[in-house]
Amino acid sequence: MDKPGALAETAAGAIRLPRLPALQAQKDTMLLQHATWPDVEAYLKQANGIIVPIGSTEQHGPNGMIGTDALCADGLARGLGEAVGAMVAPVINVGMAQHHMAFPGSMTLRPSTLIAVVRDTVASLARHGFSRFYFLNGHGGNVATLTAAFSEIYGETSLQTGQQPTVRCRLKNWWVNPNVGRIARETFGSREGSHATPSEISLTWFLHPEAARPMDLPQVLPADGGFTDAADFRRRYPDGRMGSDPSLATIDHGRRLYEAAITDLAEDWKRFLAEG
Ligand SMILES: [Zn+2]
Repeated sequence: MDKPGALAETAAGAIRLPRLPALQAQKDTMLLQHATWPDVEAYLKQANGIIVPIGSTEQHGPNGMIGTDALCADGLARGLGEAVGAMVAPVINVGMAQHHMAFPGSMTLRPSTLIAVVRDTVASLARHGFSRFYFLNGHGGNVATLTAAFSEIYGETSLQTGQQPTVRCRLKNWWVNPNVGRIARETFGSREGSHATPSEISLTWFLHPEAARPMDLPQVLPADGGFTDAADFRRRYPDGRMGSDPSLATIDHGRRLYEAAITDLAEDWKRFLAEG
């Protein structure tokens, strides 16, 4: 795990290929989509964990990208995978965002659909021997559904008496971390809000500086929390923000949040694996 280069050597040996030039792919092989099947086979001989980024495709206020939640989850998962030598699954790009559907461009999966996606994602990877699933989440609206999906997954084992490999799933919201929380509080205070936050917008701009779109915005009142369907959400939050001020977002804040998040997440990843 500490020496991902060894993955390539083992993999190449296993299928009797000529030795490849020093897998500078070392870091790329941490991405499932850049790995070969021998890479994955070799990885599974020494590890059983995988990071599964999950986000959402939904409006993020007047100047935030619609992909914000998926981009945050994916970018942080790649950084975390590199930092801890863990494999990273493809991002689940569309989440449970029914309440954002009154804004053009938003997409949603029904909770039942997302549960099916998560179950099949875990089942596919468990088939090969992965057993520790670290769902790195970018969207608060996914939490209830992800938690239900985990119960479905555990329920399958609980309802059978046979010997089954024990799958464990962790839900980790990237913004709920000690260093990330401190930076957000110190930098944005109450103007962080709860949707289209300057933290998440800054992070996406750090990851994708070409898409940064600084904008002055009028202040909005703190969000009062409740909403039901898409029409109700838009009535309460007409420009899509929930008590946030993304005019405070900068690429530099994004860099600080990224570095803090990777530090926090690497610690949490280690705790997750140590839980057994
Ligand atoms: Zn978001």
